Amino acid sequence: MENFNYHRPASVDDAVKAAKAKPDAKYMSGGMTLIPTMKQGLASPSDIIDLGALKNAGVSLGSSLVIKAGTTHAEVAASADVKKAIPALAGLAANIGDPHVRHKGTIGGSIANNDPAADYPAACVGLGATIHTNARKIAADDFFTGMFSTALEDGEVVTAVEFPLPKKAGYAKFPNPASRYAMIGVFVADTAGGVRASVTGAGSGVFRAKDVEAALGNGFASASLNGVKVSAKDISSDLHASAEYRAHLITVMAKRAVDAAK
Ligand SMILES: Cc1cc2nc3c(=O)[nH]c(=O)nc-3n(C[C@H](O)[C@H](O)[C@H](O)COP(=O)(O)OP(=O)(O)OC[C@H]3O[C@@H](n4cnc5c(N)ncnc54)[C@H](O)[C@@H]3O)c2cc1C
Repeated sequence: MENFNYHRPASVDDAVKAAKAKPDAKYMSGGMTLIPTMKQGLASPSDIIDLGALKNAGVSLGSSLVIKAGTTHAEVAASADVKKAIPALAGLAANIGDPHVRHKGTIGGSIANNDPAADYPAACVGLGATIHTNARKIAADDFFTGMFSTALEDGEVVTAVEFPLPKKAGYAKFPNPASRYAMIGVFVADTAGGVRASVTGAGSGVFRAKDVEAALGNGFASASLNGVKVSAKDISSDLHASAEYRAHLITVMAKRAVDAAK
């Protein structure tokens, strides 16, 4: 690991100022991705801007569910408001990684990192969430732009994620047995604007599964997915699973997600 300067600003404004002053600075929330990548030499920021002193954590439930960026996966999993409003989201958080990762890793860090197999991007896109930053609000459909990339500008900091309340939602993932990251994860939601279905783990980033959405638009039931065959074209293939296997898993996980939806 290379040497770096450490900052612990007390406000979002100070964090943004510190980040803008140093072109190679990186924010740190839980450090669950940043620290391992620094240890492996895959990232060597000149400055770490620790967001911990912002104490920007917590959940509020009104006409939507708002989760502040510094809320850990364990806090989301345990939140009575999340369990009441979107139980699928609490279940998703409860199955991220291991207890250490869940107690340090945050929703803001997860979506800013946008790992192509991460769970929260699927929930954000599946539910049609809005990402709040220090500067603006970004629709989840526009936020996740590709592998480990997002619509965030240099120095822009995620402050919260706002989820509209669905009629019903469900998530199912086929986890890699070592990391618990999704080999395939599918989030389905019956929303005021129609059915949404998103997929993680299948390619360069989260995407909406239009064929799954169309089938579920005819009835939000797993039987509606009988015969839906997702094309393996553009689906990733690696030592863990072939593209054909992952494509097959999309329909299987979509059915499980619908069956689990509440
Ligand atoms: C062993 C292991 C297993 C895991 N399993 C899973 C899994 O099953 N599913 C899953 O989804 N994830 C998994 N993860 C990832 C985990 O969820 C991380 O917590 C998450 O990816 C990053 O969150 P963090 O708060 O630790 O972010 P950090 O590591 O602190 O930061 C990650 C990136 O986001 C940036 N960043 C952080 N906060 C902000 C912010 N507020 N605004 C703008 N940029 C910001 C940082 O600069 C950095 O580039 C796993 C990680 C490990 C180590």
